[in-house]
This record gives sequence, C-alpha cells and structure tokens, in this order.
Amino acid sequence: LFGQHAGRQDPFLHLADGTLISYDAFLRRTAQFANLITGAGLAPGDRLAAQVAKSPDALAVYAACAQAGVVFLPLNTAYTPGEASYFVENSGARMFVCEPHKAGALTPIAHAAGAQLETLDTVGNGSLGESARHQPDSFATVDRAPSDLAAFLYTSGTTGRSKGAMLTQENLLSNAQTLADLWRFTGKDVLLHALPIFHTHGLFVATNIVALVGGAMLFVPKFDTDVMIELMPRATTMMGVPTFYTRLLDDTRFTGELTAHMRLFVSGSAPLLAETHERFEDRTGHRILERYGMTETNMNTSNPYDGDRRAGTVGFALPGVEVKVTNPDNGATLPQGEIGQIEVRGPNVFKGYWQMPEKTAAELREDGFFITGDLGQFDPDGYLQIVGRNKDLIISGGYNIYPKEIELLLDDQPGVLESAVVGVAHPDFGEGVVAVLVPEPGQTLDLEAIKAACGTELARYKQPKVFALRDDLPRNTMGKVQKNILREEHADAFA
Ligand code: ATP
Ligand code: MG
Repeated sequence: LFGQHAGRQDPFLHLADGTLISYDAFLRRTAQFANLITGAGLAPGDRLAAQVAKSPDALAVYAACAQAGVVFLPLNTAYTPGEASYFVENSGARMFVCEPHKAGALTPIAHAAGAQLETLDTVGNGSLGESARHQPDSFATVDRAPSDLAAFLYTSGTTGRSKGAMLTQENLLSNAQTLADLWRFTGKDVLLHALPIFHTHGLFVATNIVALVGGAMLFVPKFDTDVMIELMPRATTMMGVPTFYTRLLDDTRFTGELTAHMRLFVSGSAPLLAETHERFEDRTGHRILERYGMTETNMNTSNPYDGDRRAGTVGFALPGVEVKVTNPDNGATLPQGEIGQIEVRGPNVFKGYWQMPEKTAAELREDGFFITGDLGQFDPDGYLQIVGRNKDLIISGGYNIYPKEIELLLDDQPGVLESAVVGVAHPDFGEGVVAVLVPEPGQTLDLEAIKAACGTELARYKQPKVFALRDDLPRNTMGKVQKNILREEHADAFA
C-alpha cells in the first residue's frame, strides 16, 4: 500500500496549519517506526495496540506495522484506562503505544498485560516518536501472504461489548482496490479527512484508498465546522458520517460555491436521513453517495458513482461481494421486498472474532456468508435498504416491529428533529414500544398531535405507548445512536 510510493516528493498529508508531508517524508518516518518496532522484538503476526490522538505520526505507526507485518490494533481514544486494558490484555498485544499524559495510568495495565508501553510524542526522552528519530529511515517491507492478519479492529460496541475482528491483508487490500475503482479515486484526489483513525471508516476506507492511488489527504484532527469550511476549497472529495453533513448544513457559510469543485461526498457508519440528502442537494447540487459496511467486513455496498444515488438505501453489493437477505429462522434467501437478516460473502469478510470461537461459528457460516446482525430488504430496483439491527427489533405480543418504520413517521412530525424507538420489557406483551423525541431547537412538541398521527398511520401494536423527550440522542464517536442507553433509561416504563 505505502511502499510503492517510496521516494515520491508530492504531498501525502496536508495539515490544517499548512504543513505538507510528502510521501517520501512520511515513508521515511514510517521506516523509522518500523525499525523501532522490530528492534523491540515484534515479529510478523505480533500485535501492537495504539491509543493515540490522530496525527501524522499515529498514521505512520499504522503504516509501520503494515511494512513490518505487525498486526495493528487501534483503540478508541475515548476509552478509559480500564477499558483500554481489556483490549490490550484480550489481544495479547506485545507493545502498547499511548499518549504521554496517560502513561502513568496505563503503565500498570500494560505491565499486567505483558505489553511494552511506549508513548507517542515527538519530544521528550524515551518516547517512541523521539526514539524513532535516531533510527535508519529505510526499511525492507516484510512479505506477507494475503491470508495473514493485518489488523485487529474492535467493533464500535453499539450493541454490547466490542469484539476483536481479525482482518487479513486481502480483506483490506481487496476492499481498498474495489472502492478506489468504483469511486474513481486517482493520484489527483485530495480527501478531506476528519474521521477518527481507530475505526474502519477513517483508517481503512479513507486512508487505504488514498494511499493505494497515491492521492493526498487534508488531515484534520477532528470534525470542526470552521476548519472544514476553511479547507474544503482545497479538497476534491470528503468522507463522513451523517452528523458531519448535518453540521455543515447547519452553517450558512456552507454553500454551493464552497463545494463547486468537489467531485464526491461519501457517507456511512450510520443511516443518512433522506432529509439530509435532500437538503444537501438543494444547497450544493451534490448528491451524497451512501455506502454500508462494518468492522467485520469493511465495505459491503455502495450507491452508484454514475446513476441514481437513492436516499434511504445503501445501494448495491460491491463488485466481488455477495449480499443476500435471509430468513433468520432457517437461513433461506427471502424474496425481494421482504425484511430479513443481511448476509455478506466475499474477499472483504474477516477471519473471525479473536478468541470467540463460538460467536465466530454462529455468525460466520461454513459457506463463507457472514450474518451481519443488520436487517434489511431490497427495493424493487435492487437497492439495499437497512431497516435496523437485529438486536433493536422489537417483538411485542408476538409481532415484529421495526423501529425504523416508526422513527421515519416521527421524524416527519412538525417540530421533531430526530427520534429513536426502542422496546423495553412489558409484563403482558414481552416488549412495549417507547418513542424518544428530540425537538428542534426552541420548539415545543404537540405530543397529542404526534400520538394522533401514530394512531392513524400505524397498526395498533406498533404505536408507541410511552413518549419521552430528550435534548439529543446518545451517540458514540461514529455518530451511531446508542439504543442500549435509551433502553436502560426506560427499562421500567411498563413495570
Ligand atoms: P457492535 O458490533 O460492537 O455493536 P457496531 O456494529 O456499531 O458495534 P461497527 O462495525 O463500527 O460497529 O458498525 C457497523 C454497523 O454500522 C453496521 O452493522 C450497521 O448497523 C451500521 N451502518 C454502517 N453503515 C450504515 C449505513 N450507511 N446505514 C445504516 N447503518 C449503517
Ligand atoms: Mg456490529
């Protein structure tokens, strides 16, 4: 991925302060880290965990692992030391790279887990960043087989404890190649990159595609509307989660003029509301391209580059990837228009969950199909629609209720900014329906009118029995609504 660009002087990273880092400079830094990591005794297949803020050096550590055949394990920077310790121990990491200010708290943890602790900063004696400076700046890339592990990526933990997904070289490379072709990435592209790099979206989709084609990234530590608006004129493409798009639209400085030279906006990781789609197109003339993927499989589907990018859908299976909708009871493929579990097979599908053989066996079928845990259906033209997660399905009085159907209705009601519908224990029906509503700023909701709309639009068993208000929905760093938190908040709603 990276090695092919050795010696190139054109920019790989543009930083917000105007600094340019060429491929050559980035790869020399990468080589220094690779020498340091292998010098510390890490061999191909060993794990290196990193919980570090987004920076060129953090990315160079990832690239160094790729060069050295070391399995890279990025951790969410929001994890507490206690949470991080689980991942370091669980993964059997041999080295744990952290931010300097956390070293004190993490030392005993790394010690207990048998991992060598290193800090990543450019100054300060003994830090990895400083030590790397004294290393040779060339490194011979270690040859790895396609089936060798490249990364351990822990899932976002939206539905429970994060699981370590084992991803191979082939998983990452095939997906990067497919997406680069499909989305027409070239060495001329400049990607506005404001995503975290501990997640499949920012690390693999965005970074790997750009590195593959030899393009550049405007590398921003985190999403900030001011910075995005300032930098957009220098970009050609952007990848984001839906909240990036709504936050840009909330700013009147974000106009069609600002995006006139952009060629592509991609959204994923969480559902993009049809309303956001339309507002974005009205404002800028661009139609956001929505795609669907997950930690375990990288990307599965994409709306077309040419042709109709359909709101409320995630498009078609990627070339080389198979996607089907099946009956959860017997695994049989369902006809178009019926909701079932989404299954995926292809070179993008992971090797299994680390140290979870039973879970792996239950979700990764022998025929290679992975049961994603998402529910969906194909529309009449073959576009895949995500209906929600299996775990969020509500079963009330024996009926299946898909929260999304109710949420779409609630979102349409006057004054409602967004909504989330969850099922919680009900003494008679098993589960009862609770609707959580977020009013638009400064609006008071007419709950009676909303209940009346549910009464006329929804079958009785689907109608929420409890309505609750919230200033916003609980979301994780990738913008995913954490329904388990809402379920806990309303656990006693029908008690
Ligand atoms: P966990 O598996 O630990 O509960 P998670 O599933 O949120 O967490 P990720 O692998 O980061 O962890 O997210 C993948 C999930 O994100 C998918 O299974 C799907 O539910 C959701 N998702 C991704 N892209 C889209 C999209 N375009 N529309 C709707 N949902 C999406
Ligand atoms: Mg998941």
